[in-house]
Amino acid sequence: MQPIMTPRDCPLRRKGCGGCQYAEIPYPQQLARKQAHARKLLAEWGPVEPVLGMEDPCRYRCKVTASFAEDGRRGLVCGLYAKGSRRVLPADGCPLQDELAEQAVHAVLQAARECRYTVYDPMRRTGLVRHIQIRRGLYTGQLMVTLVTGPDILPGSRRFAARVRELCPDVTTLVQNLNPRPTSMVLGDKCRTLFGPGSIEDTLCGLRFRISPASFYQVNPRQTQRLYELAIREAGLTGRETVLDAYCGTGTIGLAAAGKAAQVLGVELNAAAVRDAQANARHNHIQNARFVCADAGEYMNRLAEEHAAPDVVFMDPPRSGSTPEFLAALGRLAPSRVVYISCDPSTQARDIALLVREGYRMVRATPVDMFPYTEHLESVALLVRTEKR
Ligand code: SAH
Repeated sequence: MQPIMTPRDCPLRRKGCGGCQYAEIPYPQQLARKQAHARKLLAEWGPVEPVLGMEDPCRYRCKVTASFAEDGRRGLVCGLYAKGSRRVLPADGCPLQDELAEQAVHAVLQAARECRYTVYDPMRRTGLVRHIQIRRGLYTGQLMVTLVTGPDILPGSRRFAARVRELCPDVTTLVQNLNPRPTSMVLGDKCRTLFGPGSIEDTLCGLRFRISPASFYQVNPRQTQRLYELAIREAGLTGRETVLDAYCGTGTIGLAAAGKAAQVLGVELNAAAVRDAQANARHNHIQNARFVCADAGEYMNRLAEEHAAPDVVFMDPPRSGSTPEFLAALGRLAPSRVVYISCDPSTQARDIALLVREGYRMVRATPVDMFPYTEHLESVALLVRTEKR
C-alpha cells in the first residue's frame, strides 16, 4: 500500500472515485469556502463564528464501507463505487480512510476469495456477499468488521472468520449482517456475531461508548470530541437543568452533558442505538439519564401534552433536518436554550427560520469541519428563547 499525503494525487481519484469534491483545493481555502457557505445560509439569523478546522485533515474516516463486485479479470473485488456508477474501485490508499480499516477490508476480501464467496444479486437472489463495513474505535483501537450477506447461511463461516483473524489480527469482532432486499441501504435488520463481542467501544469526552454495527457514530472521532465540547459549552449548563437529547444515537451528547445537568432524556428512532445508549449510561455509571426509542417529533408532542419542561434541548437530526411537527412541539415545550447540531446547514437554516417564528433567536452558529476534502459541513447553532410563555 502506497502512503499518500493528500487527496490531490490520489490514484482512486484518477479512476473516477469522486468522493473528494475538494481534492484540488488547499485545506485553508477549503475552510474559507465552507465559512462563506455557512455565512450565506445562516448570517441572516445571527453571527457565524470562524470554522473549526482540523490540524491534520487526512485519514480521519474511522468508518469505511466497501461493496463487492465481480470483475472478469480480477475475480471478486471490493471497494468504493466510482462516481455515478456501479464500477468498484479497490479500497487502496484512500487518503481519507483510516489505514487499519483499509487493511481490514483487504483481509476480508482475501478470506472471501479463499472461501470462493460470490457476489449477491438482490434481483435474482443468487450469490452471497454484498458489502463490508468497518468501524474503528480510534482511542481504543478496537476494530469491527460487518460482512453484509444476502442469504442467511454463510457456508464455511468458521473458516472464513478464522482467516479474517489470521490476516488482520487487529479485528476484534466480526459480525454477519443479513440484507437480502434490493435496496441502496447497506445494512439489513438482522445481525449474527461470528466472533468477538459483536460491537466495539470508543472513548469520547472522557466516557466509554459502545457502538453496534447499525448504530450511528460519527465517522471522524477527533473532530467529534471538539463538536460535542462546543455543543455542551453552548448549552451553558449549571447542574440544575433537565436536558433533552433529541436524535441522540448512542447517547453520546446527552451522556457527555449528564455530569453538568440534573437529568437527561434521550430520544432516538433506531432501537439498536437506544440499547447502546442505555448500556453506555450503565457502563459509565451515569444514573441521571434515560433513553426512549421513538420518533423524535411524536415524542416531543407527548412531552408537550404531559407538560414536561426541559430547560435545554440538544437536537442533532439527520441530513434531511428536523420536521415541522418536532419544531412546533419544541415551541410549545419552550426550553430556554436549544443547541442545534447539524450535518447540513441548508436544512438547519430552514429549521431555524421556523424556530425564530416559535420565539427563538440565534445567538451564533459555529461551523465545524468534520469532513475535510468534501463539501460536507457540520454546524452548531445556539438559539435562546426571547418570548416568555
Ligand atoms: N447525536 C448522535 C446521532 C446523530 S445522527 C451522535 O452525535 O452520535 C442522527 C440520528 O437521528 C441517528 O441516530 C438516527 O437514527 C436518528 N433519527 C433519524 N430520524 C429520527 C426520528 N424521526 N426520530 C428520532 N431519531 C431519528
